[in-house]
Parts: sequence; C-alpha cells; structure tokens
Amino acid sequence: MTVQVIRDADLTPFNTLRLPARAAALARPHTMDQLATLLTGRDPRLPLQILGEGSNLVLRGDLPGLTLIPALDGMTCVREDGRHVWVAAGAGVRWDDLVAWTVARGWQGLENLSLIPGNAGAAPFQNIGAYGVELSQVLEQVTAMAVDTGVVHHFSASECDFAYRDSRFKSADRGRYVITGIELRLNRQAACNVEYGPLKAVFANQPPEAITPAAVRERVIAVRQSKLPDPSVLPNAGSFFKNPVVSDAQHTALSTRFPDLVAFPQPAGAKLAAGWLIEQAGWKGRRLGPVGMHSEQALVLVNHGGATSADVLALAAAVRDSVRTMFGVELEQEPILLP
Ligand SMILES: Cc1cc2nc3c(=O)[nH]c(=O)nc-3n(C[C@H](O)[C@H](O)[C@H](O)COP(=O)(O)OP(=O)(O)OC[C@H]3O[C@@H](n4cnc5c(N)ncnc54)[C@H](O)[C@@H]3O)c2cc1C
Repeated sequence: MTVQVIRDADLTPFNTLRLPARAAALARPHTMDQLATLLTGRDPRLPLQILGEGSNLVLRGDLPGLTLIPALDGMTCVREDGRHVWVAAGAGVRWDDLVAWTVARGWQGLENLSLIPGNAGAAPFQNIGAYGVELSQVLEQVTAMAVDTGVVHHFSASECDFAYRDSRFKSADRGRYVITGIELRLNRQAACNVEYGPLKAVFANQPPEAITPAAVRERVIAVRQSKLPDPSVLPNAGSFFKNPVVSDAQHTALSTRFPDLVAFPQPAGAKLAAGWLIEQAGWKGRRLGPVGMHSEQALVLVNHGGATSADVLALAAAVRDSVRTMFGVELEQEPILLP
C-alpha cells in the first residue's frame, strides 16, 4: 500500500510546545517498505526531517522538503531465558505504552522511565533518562534505515555511543538514519532501582517484595504528575536545559559561594541541577510575553498561549544570560531546534 503524502501540513498539533509551523510534505510510513520507498524516491537535494511526538522540539519555522513521522507499530517478546526477556518495539509505539506493557507483565527495567512523552523510535536519539535510569542500561539494539540508501542497519548498545542525553543518532550521525525499532533486554526478576531522591524516601522502609516494577511505576507517575505540567494542558517540551557538568574546581568554588548548591558527583566533576540554578536566578514562575518558566518546575519552559519560536528563544536566551551572570555556568538547550 502506498503511503499518503500531505502537502503544506500544519505541524502545530505535532509539537508539544504548540508552536505554529508547516511542513511542505508530511508522511507517516507504517511499514519498512513504505519508509524505504519514501527515502529512495525523494529528491535528495531537499531536506528531510524526522519527527516523533514532537515532545523534544522547538520548531523555529516551516519545514521544507519531506517530514517523516515513522509509525511502525508492534510490541513483542522476541526471546527469553530464565533471567531475561528481550522485547522489540516499532518506532511509532508510544514510549509509555511500551513501559506499561512490560510492567504489566512484571518485567523489570523500564519502570523508572514511566510517563516520558514521545515515541519508542525517539528514545535512543537522546538516550532518555529519569529517576536514576537511562535507556542505555536496558537497550540491546537499535534498528535503523539509512536515509541515503534505504539499507537497514542494526546497532548494538555499545555502537550507539550513548552518553547523558546523547547518542550517535543525535551527534555524529545526525540526520543519517531513521530509527525504525528498538530491542530491549529486561529482567524477569531483579531489584528495582529506587536510589533516586523521591523514590528512595518512599521505598526506604518497604520490604523488598513490595518494591515491584508496578509499585515503582505508580510512584514515578505520581511524582511526575505532581511536578511536571501536562503538555496537553500547558504546552511545553519538558526540561528545557540539560544539567550542566562542571569541573571539580568550579564545583568547589560554587559550593563555597552557594552552600545550598544542588550537585551530583560525576566521574569527573559534578552535574549541577539546572532547575535549581534557574530558580536561584529568579526565573521560577516568571513570564516573558506569552512564555515563562513553570511555577512548580523552573526547568520547564511553558507556552501560556499564542507563543512563537522567537518568544521561546528570547526567554531561553534571557535565562541563560542570568545563570551565566550569577554562576558563571553555561546552560545548553535540550530540545532540538528545527529546521
Ligand atoms: C512533559 C515532558 C517531560 C519529559 N520528560 C523527560 C524525561 O524525564 N527524560 C527525558 O529523557 N526526556 C524527557 N522529555 C523529552 C522527550 O519526551 C523525549 O526526548 C522523547 O524521547 C522525545 O520523543 P518524541 O517522539 O516526542 O521525539 P521528537 O521530539 O519528535 O524528536 C526529538 C528528536 O528525535 C529525532 N527523532 C524522533 N524520532 C526519530 C526516529 N524514529 N529516528 C531518528 N530520529 C528521530 C527527531 O528528529 C528530533 O531531533 C520530556 C518531555 C516533556 C514534554
């Protein structure tokens, strides 16, 4: 079956910041054949963009060329042994549907990553992470189609060059592959990771048999819902800045000046809580035109209605300037700027 290509498509519903933009041509391939036909049949001189749910994007303007939203579906258990299950999911599966599906079967590994918006195909792109767990810890392989040739490649976890909110697909190979599916290795029975702050406090006094993937998922959802604005109610793209990593010397100097500094030790240096820096710089709950930093979570930039990408980028620049002036720390934007 041929796939429909929509001309001059409105992308406002396809980005969670609800920024107005249009795609010159938009297609949602459901099969590998449809995707290969679109990739090999397109005009290679025109740009190609790949979107998931648009929950980690700032659409700066209209997207020329072809925009693809891979819609390959399916969640299956492809292999198992006494200790592990290997689960495959198509790029178009909603990430949280996959988490719910595995947790419902009692499989351990994804529960801390509950309720992260977006599609499974986007998850390796920035190595999604939350509550002390990153995708890289459970990922077995990524299947991706080369944009230039339509050839299918398999990348093991070590070949994906995962780092904090980073991978080869975001860095060295940006724009070269469409991720079509992922395979994860989960545990049949293993202790859940409840070391991260809000989980530790809740589970500290619980017997090990009570700390199930389902119980952890429930807790993660409750914490997220209490702190993070729902994009369908208040448009946003989640954390707007990465947590900056500073040297040991800078960490020591900042801790002396700011005894309450929130920092997490790293193999080299320390990772600072960007939300804390932004709050100290006076931006929590503050607006600039139709956009603002959220009143409960200063790291989240929200669109109060009618914002353009210029509004978003002006606020981001103002926040970055304030944090640089106060702490001498450079904030890096997390959502991808397109085009
Ligand atoms: C309220 C909220 C909370 C969030 N919390 C977290 C969190 O806790 N942890 C976290 O890590 N992230 C979080 N995010 C960010 C976001 O949910 C993730 O980055 C998610 O993986 C993005 O998925 P998406 O489908 O929306 O991708 P999009 O935003 O559509 O795309 C993001 C990037 O991935 C690329 N991409 C998407 N699909 C593919 C594909 N199939 N092949 C190749 N490239 C692709 C796009 O080109 C783009 O560059 C949050 C966002 C929101 C709105």
